[in-house]
Amino acid sequence: MNVEVMPSPATDTLLSAEPHIAQVGVIGAGQMGNGIAHVCALAGLPVTLLDAKKPALDSALATIAHNMDRQVNRGIVTAEDRDAALARITTNLDYAAFDDADLVIEAATEKEEIKRAIFKQLVPHLKPSCLLASNTSSISITRLAADTDRPEKFIGMHFMNPVPVMKLVEIIRGIATDEPTFQAVDALARKVGKITAVAEDFPAFIVNRILVPMINEAVYALYEGVGSVSAIDISLKLGANHPMGPLELADFIGLDTCLSIMQVLHDGLADSKYRPCPLLVKYVEAGWLGRKTGRGFYDYSQTPPRPTR
Ligand code: NAD
Repeated sequence: MNVEVMPSPATDTLLSAEPHIAQVGVIGAGQMGNGIAHVCALAGLPVTLLDAKKPALDSALATIAHNMDRQVNRGIVTAEDRDAALARITTNLDYAAFDDADLVIEAATEKEEIKRAIFKQLVPHLKPSCLLASNTSSISITRLAADTDRPEKFIGMHFMNPVPVMKLVEIIRGIATDEPTFQAVDALARKVGKITAVAEDFPAFIVNRILVPMINEAVYALYEGVGSVSAIDISLKLGANHPMGPLELADFIGLDTCLSIMQVLHDGLADSKYRPCPLLVKYVEAGWLGRKTGRGFYDYSQTPPRPTR
């Protein structure tokens, strides 16, 4: 299902020209990259996963195997399908491994200079027909695309965390993205079991334009002493029926990613209402990035995690 595009005679014609995606590359083996590799492999697609760091690749493979085991235990996936999917995933540190890819999805750290450097290194290794997608949470697709040799084949493909569980993929066209690219990537998202929503290329798109300022406001409430970590989280869970409190969610997303998104909103929309909370900045400066570093608004060295304020 796509919440924007209804098939029409014009799009039917374009659908037949849709590039075929048989081989997928994923760059960045963190929490999003390993999830994207997971769902693509389970959908039958061979996936090459690349990271700058070998330990990140090793831990991504272990995480994927662990998460697929949980799906087997819950009866969502058969043991045969898990084994076949794991066999479809290869890892590499070298961009030359993408020479046969039909689509490369970039899911590296949310910093524009990192993403630009990745696309610069990647592009010389790609076949001309290869499509490029970025899983960025907030950065302009048009700007990232303009730096490559194929802006018409470049698109935003914003998966949600955790990827194997969350149903949504936001699809964002850059100003130059062509219709066959949109159709092929939209079809791929549906093939891996997702529902797509189309967002325009404005800072942070739809989900994070709304979600991350709410998280930032929760950090302000903590900073100003309106409530403790537990009081803020329990208030939103029981008072607004949110499945996770905003500070728990911030730890889950990664505080570095939340801060980067606020900076993109602040820079891109030039409105002071998007200024990042100084306490969020301080946590990131301390290296307290949330679950992935063992400490954020909660301390994860204990079970259950202990609020830090
Ligand atoms: P993460 O910190 O878990 O992983 C980032 C990975 O990128 C790391 O393994 C790192 O080694 C790798 N990396 C950094 N520089 C690299 C380079 N030059 N070449 C190759 N690999 C490199 O981050 P994440 O949460 O997986 O986020 C990745 C992307 O997904 C970001 O753009 C983020 O905004 C987006 N995203 C995140 C979430 C979320 O909830 N965390 C949700 C949707 C989208």
